[in-house]
Amino acid sequence: MAQKEKNIQRIRLAVQWGFLLFSLYLGVTFYRFVLHFRSGGAAPFVERPDGVEAFLPISALVSLKGWLTSGSINNIHPAALVVFLAVIAVSWLMKRSFCSWICPVSTLTEVCWKVGTKVFGKNFRLWLWADWLLRPIKYLLLVFFVGSILVVMSPDSVRDFIVGDYNKTADIKMLDFFLHMSGTPLLVISGLLLLSFFLRNPFCRFLCPYGALLGLVSRFSPAKVERCAKACISCGGCNRACPSYLDVMHGERVKSEECIGCLRCVSSCPKPEALQVRLKGGKVVSGAVFAAVVVGVFIGSTLLARITGHWHTSIPKAEYQRLINEADRISH
Ligand code: SF4
Ligand code: SF4
Repeated sequence: MAQKEKNIQRIRLAVQWGFLLFSLYLGVTFYRFVLHFRSGGAAPFVERPDGVEAFLPISALVSLKGWLTSGSINNIHPAALVVFLAVIAVSWLMKRSFCSWICPVSTLTEVCWKVGTKVFGKNFRLWLWADWLLRPIKYLLLVFFVGSILVVMSPDSVRDFIVGDYNKTADIKMLDFFLHMSGTPLLVISGLLLLSFFLRNPFCRFLCPYGALLGLVSRFSPAKVERCAKACISCGGCNRACPSYLDVMHGERVKSEECIGCLRCVSSCPKPEALQVRLKGGKVVSGAVFAAVVVGVFIGSTLLARITGHWHTSIPKAEYQRLINEADRISH
């Protein structure tokens, strides 16, 4: 494989870490925003980073229903819906690449299983029956969230939820959840992180409803990894590299919803033209173009939202003071 396709892993890691660091920056800035109000103005004021809404997928799903039923994007957490739609667009175009290029959770678990490989010499694999038993969990969670929001919630309930204090404080509650994590959530998250040293991406593979949705969307992606049987020498490098344990070596086109578009298989293939990302018509998508589309669509969508006025929350500063003071007492 040409050196430039091998370099794509360096670019992917750079993009992953760029988004992880940016997520940390968003978290710290939002913490400082909240601190200003909690300290009664003693801590300096910083602008609320609207990008923090990327971590409000429930609010985004309700906003989606609101958008579909009312025709307009709400101005409480508009960025949540914009990021959600951007993620869907990326997954439709370039498989579940959001999971392996942008998602900070996936970045962390990838570090864990890579460290695990170094320490144990390999990653462990669950028994096939256990894998099959656990994988549907993320789809059941997806059915629960999509069913209870997109199907069951009436347009009136959607509107009430969007303008309600519970939704308005969703970002504050999320911050407090991470700042004061204890008991069961701490145990579950620590357990999943620990498990990630032994298994590859257990959270993404078994539990993440977002990943389940993106996997289903990615089925319709025009770009897929394709193997040319004539050029393939059956070395097995692609199968060994695949974090989703897909049998790339014996197929023609990787259609599976478990393909996270990481291109590790392509990068590890020793034969030029044996393994490439191709569009339906056969046109090759180079690693550089793949990367440009993933990053370009994601960032481009947020820029477009800013330009068209669908990014900043309309919650005024004075209302934030009240919401932050009352956040503990606000429940759904
Ligand atoms: S098939 Fe290739 S692109 Fe898809 S998950 Fe496996 S290694 Fe990544
Ligand atoms: S890494 Fe390339 S040559 Fe080796 S089995 Fe996979 S497609 Fe064939």
